Amino acid sequence: MSTLPANGSVRPITRWGADVMHRLNQPVTDFGGALQTLVADMVATMNAAEGVGLAANQVGVDLQVFVFDCPDKDGNRVQGVVCNPVIELPEGKDRRLDEGDEGCLSLPGAFTKCARPDFARVTGVDQHGEPVVFEGTGLLARCLQHETDHTQGTVFGDRLSRKYRKRLFAEAEDLAPDYPSDWPVSPMVEHEDHHEETPAT
Ligand SMILES: [Zn+2]
Repeated sequence: MSTLPANGSVRPITRWGADVMHRLNQPVTDFGGALQTLVADMVATMNAAEGVGLAANQVGVDLQVFVFDCPDKDGNRVQGVVCNPVIELPEGKDRRLDEGDEGCLSLPGAFTKCARPDFARVTGVDQHGEPVVFEGTGLLARCLQHETDHTQGTVFGDRLSRKYRKRLFAEAEDLAPDYPSDWPVSPMVEHEDHHEETPAT
């Protein structure tokens, strides 16, 4: 059963290139009705896009908040809402890089390898202002890092070498006609060759 807020409305996903994706977002200070609506809509939008995480700027809102529903390395599904996230990553001998594939709902359909630490911990508060801590391995570690990056105005393309970034953009451009401008409000055009192994964030 989901612990995430339900009954939200699907909103169009904002793409890379929009200003709000590439600047430090505002901290959440008002935990009232507008935030509750936003968070429920973000969950609905993440689910419609079949993603495992979504940040507020991915629906065009300049606020440091993300939602996620993502498996860890052992297949345990972890869900949550984090406002004003702060990431902690292993250092020294505990720091091991995972070279797994990464994708972003704001650059839909394209994936590439992106090296990140294989464990992450995020602290912050939930949509009611209560302290939360989430930590994990595998795709969950990647997701927590990817979403916290979004709240800081960083996209994973910023973390790639020029060669990989170029390849990623070329793949995204090829797939762009499959994603209507208001996706996932309007569904994508289905093809058999779409990448389906790794969900995007
Ligand atoms: Zn993303």
